[in-house]
Amino acid sequence: MIIIMFMFGMLFGSSVYAFVLRYHEHKSWLKGRSECDYCHHVLQPLDLIPIFSWLALGGKCRYCSKRLSWQYPLVELVAAILFALSYIFWPLSFNSLGVFQFICWLILITGFMILSIYDLKWYTLPDKIVFPLVSLSFLQLVVVSTGSGSVKYFLGGIIGAALISGIFYMLFQLSGGKWIGGGDVKLGICLGMIVGGPVNSVLLIFIASLIGTILAIPFALKNKTIKAHIPFGPLLMVATVIVFFFGSDLISWYTHLLT
Ligand SMILES: [Zn+2]
Repeated sequence: MIIIMFMFGMLFGSSVYAFVLRYHEHKSWLKGRSECDYCHHVLQPLDLIPIFSWLALGGKCRYCSKRLSWQYPLVELVAAILFALSYIFWPLSFNSLGVFQFICWLILITGFMILSIYDLKWYTLPDKIVFPLVSLSFLQLVVVSTGSGSVKYFLGGIIGAALISGIFYMLFQLSGGKWIGGGDVKLGICLGMIVGGPVNSVLLIFIASLIGTILAIPFALKNKTIKAHIPFGPLLMVATVIVFFFGSDLISWYTHLLT
């Protein structure tokens, strides 16, 4: 099952990158076939095997021998690892509700990868990708709380969404959009519903800020400025994955530390 999830992740990962590029160029992502970035030779099925094709061809195009970006196999590998780890560390059960949540989760993290690449490349989180993810996380919240009869689960999601997007909205207004983007405010609704509750929400923001600070240190030392332009979106999504799987472990570890 872990191997199946890994393969499945590789396949999703290879569509993720193709989707981002085609979406950005306003091309249809269903029509049209993959081609080389340089010579535009249409790629054959043998050239499209995730990771392996890139490795087998030494990272070069089979037709024009130009060097192909290492970002393609990297995204495929990250997706494969994320899918496999999601199965291994899945914190919920695998009953029918759990399987529904697992499928939603895989779609959500695929969306996160699309948004992260977008934010890293062009410093923006497109509404057309954020809003479907917000809707999916809301649908998931409604289905699971209805299915399990848990009002607490539902309220936790709503509180999480209100808290994270509320704090981001305040920062957005205070800084005139300099500290945080409008896309992060909307994404916060989705992330808050996923992690749920005030404690997890605060932990999410803390972890994202911590990773941001750590990443900014080498930049600050090199350029003698603290104004590193690291987009916040990918950090928030990484933090969401961490809190979703290990939030309760981190919180109990921390409270044990204090007592
Ligand atoms: Zn080529």
